[in-house]
Amino acid sequence: MKIVYADDSKMWRAVLRDFLISKGHDVVVANDGLEAYFKIHEVLPEVVISDVVMPGLNGYQLCRLLKNDPNFSSIPILLLTASSESLDKFWSKYSGANAYIQKDSENGFNLIDSKLQEMEKNSSLKLPNSENGKRAFGDTLDKLLVETSLRGEVRRLFNHVEDMNYTIRKINDLLKEIFEIKAMALLSISVDEMNLYSSISDHEFLEKWMLSQLSRPSYPQKRNYVSIDGENEHEEFAWISKVISFDSKEQGVVAIWRDRAFSDRENNSLSIISEELGGILKIGSQLEGYRRNANFDDLTGLANYRALEEKLRVLWNDGKDFVLSIIDIDHFKKVNDTYGHAIGNEVLASIGRILENSAEKFNSFAARFGGEEFLIISERNENFFEFIDDIRQKIEKSHLSKSVPELVVTISGGIAERDDSKSFTEVVEMADQALYQAKESGRNKVIVHANE
Ligand code: GH3
Ligand code: MG
Ligand code: MG
Repeated sequence: MKIVYADDSKMWRAVLRDFLISKGHDVVVANDGLEAYFKIHEVLPEVVISDVVMPGLNGYQLCRLLKNDPNFSSIPILLLTASSESLDKFWSKYSGANAYIQKDSENGFNLIDSKLQEMEKNSSLKLPNSENGKRAFGDTLDKLLVETSLRGEVRRLFNHVEDMNYTIRKINDLLKEIFEIKAMALLSISVDEMNLYSSISDHEFLEKWMLSQLSRPSYPQKRNYVSIDGENEHEEFAWISKVISFDSKEQGVVAIWRDRAFSDRENNSLSIISEELGGILKIGSQLEGYRRNANFDDLTGLANYRALEEKLRVLWNDGKDFVLSIIDIDHFKKVNDTYGHAIGNEVLASIGRILENSAEKFNSFAARFGGEEFLIISERNENFFEFIDDIRQKIEKSHLSKSVPELVVTISGGIAERDDSKSFTEVVEMADQALYQAKESGRNKVIVHANE
């Protein structure tokens, strides 16, 4: 029979080769698995004999490669183990070998001989066409290389997963390099939030289109759009998209656009990439969640006390001038007592939204200070009183509860500014004293702490 025999040991190669020739076989030897793999394509053997432990491609891997390839899967493989370890036996089986023999056992060669005779008798082998075989070889190797390097590249992005914006920019770079894309979009979803990173200008279209690809409908409460790499139109472009999953849970969607069609092979590559992105999105949104819980208040979405303290400390240590206001809801206990705690919560959330929007416009920082008290800090001093008093008026005029439209709530505020002869805790206390005066003198008003 025509045999390809792979062994990295020179001694074994010589001895076993001579033995096989003496039994009338035609033998081609190879020094390792990869060389054997090449020779198998040239020679198209009836049997492959391979040592297990070899540098580079080992016997198991060679076995897996051949058994996974329809052109070669019918060639019987005889693996030569060097020990009697059960683990080796297990792997020999797992690798798909047809037989495994301990080559250094007492009657190892006789066993090999009788195995070969058995194989010859049972052989119904259809030899692969040599041209097909060579092409298949090229394709298999190509596929393996592309797959492993693609996966490797995407997995490397795990290094920066704590900074999602950076990670997404790197993903964009990678997609550009691989597919020469014109635009990309990546949607990441968690329980109540979505992040849409894209270089497409039409966010409304994108959001609807990408969410519609998920098998389970998702209605995120919070939607964040992050623009990466400019704003493109998408209409004239060809596109492909993939749902990204992790542990069979959908994590998001990736889509790419360019000015010419995508091939099947490229489509397949995007599938591989999206498989690897699953873990990245999962870990990324988990980290994001931890960070949010640590720094933000659940009910109002504002920064919490911890984040506020940090903000104050940084401002103070940097020597920045600032002014702050403590805001407290008037007679809030009565709201709870009259309408219930749930309505109270609704009011707190509404006020949180008003503060957040106003603060953003004034370029300031709003936080929930405690129960029904809030704090706003600004590095800009002028018009700060007017800014806070506007908030007061706005709250007085707003419907803060959908279910109790007639409910009106007012706030009182106290203001104080940085004073280097004091600590920042004392500045907060000064604002609190001013707030107390506002309460004492009738509520629904804002008072600036007067320096004595
Ligand atoms: P004042 O005008 O003097 O500030 O009166 P007040 O009733 O607002 O002040 P007080 O400090 O007596 O009561 C604050 C109330 O706020 C009591 C507490 O139950 C309520 N509260 C604090 N946190 C929450 C919350 O998260 N949800 C709800 N619904 N109520 C809260
Ligand atoms: Mg209070
Ligand atoms: Mg109050």
